[in-house]
Amino acid sequence: MDCDKCDREAVMHAAYSGLHLCDDHFCRSVEKRLRRRIRDDDLLPASATPDDPQVWLVGLSGGKDSVVLTKILHDTFAEDPRIELVALTIHEGIEGYRDKSLDACLELTDDLDIRHEVVSYEEEFDLRMDDVVEKDPENMAACAYCGVFRRDLLSKYAEEYGADKLLTGHNLDDEAETALMNFLEGDVAQVAKHFDASLAGFDERSEQEEFVPRAKPLRDVPEKEVALYAHLENLPAHITECPHSSEAYRGEIQQLMLSLEENHPGTRHSIMAGYEELAKLAAGEFGAGEGKRELNECERCGAPTTQDMCRKCSLVDAIHAV
Ligand code: SF4
Repeated sequence: MDCDKCDREAVMHAAYSGLHLCDDHFCRSVEKRLRRRIRDDDLLPASATPDDPQVWLVGLSGGKDSVVLTKILHDTFAEDPRIELVALTIHEGIEGYRDKSLDACLELTDDLDIRHEVVSYEEEFDLRMDDVVEKDPENMAACAYCGVFRRDLLSKYAEEYGADKLLTGHNLDDEAETALMNFLEGDVAQVAKHFDASLAGFDERSEQEEFVPRAKPLRDVPEKEVALYAHLENLPAHITECPHSSEAYRGEIQQLMLSLEENHPGTRHSIMAGYEELAKLAAGEFGAGEGKRELNECERCGAPTTQDMCRKCSLVDAIHAV
């Protein structure tokens, strides 16, 4: 089958759009979608200048999503003095997993000449995810602990490096899964939070001064296309899954989404189109700007929290008490 844009051989067929694309037209279409998302979400404010550049902290795990995000951001802004990229890798302490993906991160940031920082749960919290899974004081899935710790470190280091934005490599599948999970859990406040935290453009977000704002520039690109891009561009992405990933509820939603998309191409796009409209309405009712709860500083670490102690410090205490 030929490419729909030229007479070269197609390397992919997107069932949701009907397009067949060759390697070159496919890669350019991924880059175009990411750049369009940056424009549509107003990620780069007019106030950014070469003398006062924006610092964008990129969460770089070494998996295909964050590697592709970092590469395209670099190619787009390497010559633009208004943007400074910093990559941050978090080592969770999972045997046989993060060490290899850390190699991929080092190779990429070395190739691209991007500032790269590495932090670990071990140094920050005196624990490794392997021990957390064994102790499990709260009887929760591994990802429930890991997500709290990761969010804490991303926020902490975004502040520390003076970042204006925190960018993560969530793709279309990730976002459609989150939307579906929020619906299935009946959590309207979470839907509102999702909108304010990352779906809304920067011109329509409710102000949350306590947090460095987040963005997900890859969220229009399906997961398989991100993987194909990484392969075609020969990027050093690590493909092994975390051994705890299938334990999560998200794993079940992933399977459901795959089968829905296969039988009804375009499902992920239509979920997100409808969800964004509803999330915007929910944000008007429950968003950060409406009935906003006062945030305290955690008595232990100073992070913003609605309690006396933040969730991360409570979990760290519970794990160390076992
Ligand atoms: Fe952490 Fe879960 Fe991701 Fe593994 S899959 S790195 S445990 S959040």
